[in-house]
Amino acid sequence: MNYKVYFKRILLRQTYIRLVYALKGCKEAIQHRKYLVIVYAWRGLLFFVKWLPASISILLKRKIYIPNIGISLTTRCTLKCRHCDHYIPTIEEKYHEILAFDSFKTQLDNLLVNADNLFELRLLGGEPLLNRNTAQMLLYSLEHPKIERVELVTNGTLDISDEIVDILKRFPKKSSVYLSNYTANESLIPLLKTDSIAEKLIANGITLNFDRNLLWSKTEQIQRHFRSAAMNKRYFMECLKLTHCMNIRGGKLFICPRAATFSLRDLYRRFFPPAPALQENKEYINLSQPVEKWQFLEFFGNDFFNACDYCSNVSEVAGEKMIPALQ
Ligand code: SF4
Ligand code: SF4
Repeated sequence: MNYKVYFKRILLRQTYIRLVYALKGCKEAIQHRKYLVIVYAWRGLLFFVKWLPASISILLKRKIYIPNIGISLTTRCTLKCRHCDHYIPTIEEKYHEILAFDSFKTQLDNLLVNADNLFELRLLGGEPLLNRNTAQMLLYSLEHPKIERVELVTNGTLDISDEIVDILKRFPKKSSVYLSNYTANESLIPLLKTDSIAEKLIANGITLNFDRNLLWSKTEQIQRHFRSAAMNKRYFMECLKLTHCMNIRGGKLFICPRAATFSLRDLYRRFFPPAPALQENKEYINLSQPVEKWQFLEFFGNDFFNACDYCSNVSEVAGEKMIPALQ
């Protein structure tokens, strides 16, 4: 497949994901979570007013426009959730990492040197506030000219420092905090600082994303499914219709946080042979060197990833719902 076709595929896929996400979000908001209608209507409007014209311009000018990426500042967490969507509690001690500021900066710079725009960067964990350099990383991301939005994601067990609040306040249009709402889980109440964190953020005029009715899907055990390449391709396309965020972990960019966990836990070697029709080197983009445009095109041109053959995300999302963060 040539460069031009790759380019169209990445763009069409991104446009498709955004459209489905906007429409699905509107439908869900109207049916179940009425207070979210404005948020999703706004996202829908953004799609047509901002993304669609931008995508046409990207297509004409051949730009690399990355929709969203989460970067794990650490894989360590203050909780051990049974149905952690990223399978963080399954990571063995030897695979854990706490990202140093220099590595963070190098990886972000290498990622963006040949990209034109990153729409949203999410600073994630585990629990990112366990990393002592979170404030520095947040500031660097917010000052980066190619990043449009930065969101700090926290589980509500650790206070947000005044230093972080001051940084967030300096970039009111670019920054936000996603505060996980685990308050439905009564056994966690003694550990949670959710209310005080929310009050502090609101008092300082910081954009707070908080889902009052948060429910989780029940995750299934990681297992190799041995799907055919065609089935994995269909599975991946179904998954792309759900909320999707790429993930940087261990100095590599993965298609999603699960792919990062599976790869870094070395599952592919344990479950040898790996999923069919994919080379290991296309499974991720190595961020130890500046990323060239063709690498993005090759990565986004994948029909599916090895990780998808180990994943049950689509059936989980359609399945049983439960209160979040059961330990
Ligand atoms: S708090 Fe988040 S990252 Fe930590 S175990 Fe729970 S779901 Fe996973
Ligand atoms: S591993 Fe594949 S199917 Fe699973 S969440 Fe990631 S992209 Fe989707």
